Amino acid sequence: MANSTSTSGNLKDGLQLQWLGHASFKVNSPNGKVIYIDPWLDNPKAPPDAKPVKNVDIVVLTHGHFDHIGSAVEIASDTNAKVICNFEISLYMKSKGIPESNIIGINESGSISVDNILFTMVHAEHSSGITDGDRVIDGGTAAGIVIKFDDGYTIYHTGDTGLFSDMKLIASLYKPDLVMMCIGGYYTMSPKEAAEAVKLIKPKYLLPMHYGTFPALSGNPDELSKLIPKTVKTRVIPLKPGEIFS
Ligand SMILES: [Zn+2]
Repeated sequence: MANSTSTSGNLKDGLQLQWLGHASFKVNSPNGKVIYIDPWLDNPKAPPDAKPVKNVDIVVLTHGHFDHIGSAVEIASDTNAKVICNFEISLYMKSKGIPESNIIGINESGSISVDNILFTMVHAEHSSGITDGDRVIDGGTAAGIVIKFDDGYTIYHTGDTGLFSDMKLIASLYKPDLVMMCIGGYYTMSPKEAAEAVKLIKPKYLLPMHYGTFPALSGNPDELSKLIPKTVKTRVIPLKPGEIFS
């Protein structure tokens, strides 16, 4: 992280989120664990020091598309990280030689506690096929992930998703303080739908993601900010790839 700049908010002590471009985040938890969410560290916007990954405790995957699991096999092979994913992706990870003892396959509404951090898989409206050479393997159902730290602070990565009204249930059940939300359009919500999602969830902080990687993902944080009503107090934090929010 030597070259990284950082932005400060009123985040939990010790919690840091670094955007690695696209939907990839490195999270340093308040209890000192390192979590990678949807690591695709070869994405066109990834910071130059994103690789190699040396220190990681947990990798979390929302779905099987290459731009989300891109670096997961490599990281899990090179480190002793636990991998949390859906059941079908867990079978894929096993088939790639990742030790079974390090793979945790759950599914929507399922939770698992690892290192005193609670991971819950939640709904997303998307697909999840895994590209393997010239084949597409069934990657189960796409999901989002809610991460609750040992002190109760909660963050939610939407994964790739369209808008759905049950985001309101995710908000009332899990009360995320911070949301990493897809806003680029084309494959996911654009700012128009994301602004509705913000109204349903009303997090304190929103880190936009899944935009700007390719020209097709044209939604941007400015458009989103303009569409959020003044009565909703969510603070949109547009990070640059490599930047840390702490
Ligand atoms: Zn996807």
